[in-house]
This record gives sequence, C-alpha cells and structure tokens, in this order.
Amino acid sequence: MFASGRLLQPVWDYLLFHQLPLISSPLFPVLLAFSSYVFFSIPFAALDLLGERVPLFYRYKIQPDRRPTVGMMSRSFMTAAYNNIVFVLPTVLLTMFILPTPKLPDTAPTLYKVIIDGLAVLLLFDTQYYIWHFIHHKQPQLYRFMHATHHEYVAPFSWCTQLLSIPELMSVGLWSNQDPILLRCHPLTTWCVTVFSIWMSVEDHIGYDLPWTLNHLVPFGLLGGAPAHDMHHQRPSSNYAPFFCHWDRIFGTVLHVFLFQGILKLCNN
Ligand SMILES: [Zn+2]
Ligand SMILES: [Zn+2]
Repeated sequence: MFASGRLLQPVWDYLLFHQLPLISSPLFPVLLAFSSYVFFSIPFAALDLLGERVPLFYRYKIQPDRRPTVGMMSRSFMTAAYNNIVFVLPTVLLTMFILPTPKLPDTAPTLYKVIIDGLAVLLLFDTQYYIWHFIHHKQPQLYRFMHATHHEYVAPFSWCTQLLSIPELMSVGLWSNQDPILLRCHPLTTWCVTVFSIWMSVEDHIGYDLPWTLNHLVPFGLLGGAPAHDMHHQRPSSNYAPFFCHWDRIFGTVLHVFLFQGILKLCNN
C-alpha cells in the first residue's frame, strides 16, 4: 500500500509545485473534460474520414453502410463546444463566487485508492445513468425535452459522444461533479476518473468494434463498449447502461449487436 502511495507522490508534487495555478482553478475540470473529449475523438474522426481506404480498421465498422459526413461531425462538435462555452463555463464561474475553492491536499492517494475509488465512481455513475436513461426512453415528453438530441444519429461516431441537450449535459455534469465528492475522492482520483470515463464514453460511440477496446480487454463481458451502445442507437429500447452490462442483464434490457444481426438475417431469409 505504501509503495503504491509513493508511486504517485512525485506526480502529485510536480502538479502542486509546477502546475498549481492550473490545477487549483475551478475551470480545470471543465478544460480537462473537454480537451479529453477532443483528444480522444480526433483519431476516430480520422478513421471515419479515411473509411475503406484503411481496410485494417474499416472491417470493424459496426454499420459500414452509414458513414458520418464532415457536416455531421462539425455539427456535433459545435454543439458540444457551444454547450460548454455558453452553459458549463458560466455555471462554473458562478459557483466560483458562491463556494470557496477547496484546498488541495499535500499527499497523493495510493494507486490502490485511485483504482478502488475510481471504480466506485464509475459504478455509481453507471447506476444513476441507467435509471435516468431508462426513464427518459419510457416517458415521451422527457425523451423529447432531454434526450432526443443525443439520438439524432442511428450510427454513432466519436464526435456525437457529447451531442447532448443542455438539460442532459447538466444532469450528467451534476453526477460527474458530485459523485467523487460524495465518495470523498482525492482530486487526482477525480481527474483520473474524468479522463477514463470520457475515454469509455468515446469508445461507446466510435462505431467500430475494435478487438483491443476495453470491452474486449476486460473479461466476462463486464463492459458493453461500442457494440452495446451502437445497438442502443439502432434499437433505443436496449442497452441503457453507459459502461457496464450488469444492470441491462439484471433487468433484461441487454441486446447484443451480433444476436440482433443474426435475427435480422433469419427474418430476411
Ligand atoms: Zn450515445
Ligand atoms: Zn438513449
């Protein structure tokens, strides 16, 4: 335990001594989240633009007959940028004047604590989003007002990860902010889980079932990844959980993309 604590202390010391103005700014989590979304989305946007010219990747495209256009990509990106600039930044600036900025601790968390607390945050968020998502697909008015924006495209692509209405962004943002506070996470854990959860969300939307993505690397089908979420965009009454599969399995809302394609083939024959 002590060894894993010392492992992160140099990183934490570097951040405290050299990047303090940046990391202590209330705007830092917003910058971290938005830049992670942009950074993780770019390679998959390049894949979408190259298409069949890179057969090594294109053969993993889940819906090969539906490719995003530059217009669709820029519209999704502009919506995410607009939401962040016009709503998220002013909300953060407002809270800066209301709430005191918490003091950063001197010691780093242990690696063990980062993993355990990070996993707890992901599991809690996954549960909250499952319930929210299920309700918003069952209630037509709520769906139209809150969630329909995200379902504009049947075949997801990386940029549409944050194609969200402002009320949906605010709900998701509230849990993302409050869950680590509720679970008393170290700031370093919070930032790690922010980046990791954005990676998972982008992976959900890439539209490719790449063999090295997390849903293939983590055993027992614990994570849904792109195949599960792609299926949700095609058949919205399935696969409500954003990351894990257990709630969809327990409540019978899981639908596998390959099972669905098999059924379609049988019906067509
Ligand atoms: Zn989605
Ligand atoms: Zn949905």
